Amino acid sequence: MTRTLILQSQDAVTHDTYRFVFDRPEGFDFEPGQAAELAMCREGWRDEGRPFTFTSLPDEDHLEFVIKSYPSHDGVTEQLPTLKSGEKVTLDGPFGAITDKGAGVFLAAGAGVTPFIAILRARARQGDLAGCQLIFSNKTEADIILRDDWRGMDGLKVEHVLSEEKADGLHHGKVDAAFLDRHADLSGQIYICGPQGYVDAMRDAVKELSVPDDRVHTEDGW
Ligand SMILES: Cc1cc2nc3c(=O)[nH]c(=O)nc-3n(C[C@H](O)[C@H](O)[C@H](O)COP(=O)(O)OP(=O)(O)OC[C@H]3O[C@@H](n4cnc5c(N)ncnc54)[C@H](O)[C@@H]3O)c2cc1C
Repeated sequence: MTRTLILQSQDAVTHDTYRFVFDRPEGFDFEPGQAAELAMCREGWRDEGRPFTFTSLPDEDHLEFVIKSYPSHDGVTEQLPTLKSGEKVTLDGPFGAITDKGAGVFLAAGAGVTPFIAILRARARQGDLAGCQLIFSNKTEADIILRDDWRGMDGLKVEHVLSEEKADGLHHGKVDAAFLDRHADLSGQIYICGPQGYVDAMRDAVKELSVPDDRVHTEDGW
């Protein structure tokens, strides 16, 4: 069923990532970690639906998305930051492979952190972050989405990893099996989200460390 949403507000989260807040249609429900297809109600863009993840919680009265803009794609995410309050988008969904299956390690790269925003916010609200660790890879410090939110989540262990910059207190390089062996407790659930190359590399890394497939949850197709 296609629904129409009205934009309430948008603001910048980083230099290229934006938070969009929409009104929430009555009776619409989803689980933390799920996504929906959004399309702008603008001439030439109505058939250009793209998948984005809810970052608000199911019991909140609005719907929130955190979306990274790629001007080089000449596509939807270049246009979205030009949306004005009061403009409409259509929503189809919800759908998505990543939902909360239990405490564990959340491996994210870039905007791939979005399914974990809702899942970890829901756990934070219940005081249920014991055994949860976020290992968040980005190119530079300026790319880290919602850094203060992660810092403020009591009980959440956070490791930031930067591939193109060195910064005090943050890891430098790329996450691999050796990094996970040293810094993560892989005895719980393992969640992986990000660009396909990252997802494949993390899947291989946890396999190398003998994590069984049924404890590994991924979202493909980013
Ligand atoms: C289930 C799911 C949930 C998601 N949730 C989120 C979310 O919450 N937040 C978020 O930020 N993202 C999310 N994504 C990723 C998001 O859907 C894509 O970033 C988005 O679809 C890109 O749309 P676009 O129109 O800007 O570009 P695309 O549709 O990727 O590309 C438009 C055109 O640009 C060209 N192009 C493609 N890639 C490149 C490139 N690398 N360089 C140059 N040109 C290129 C191609 O010709 C393409 O036709 C999610 C993805 C999935 C699968």
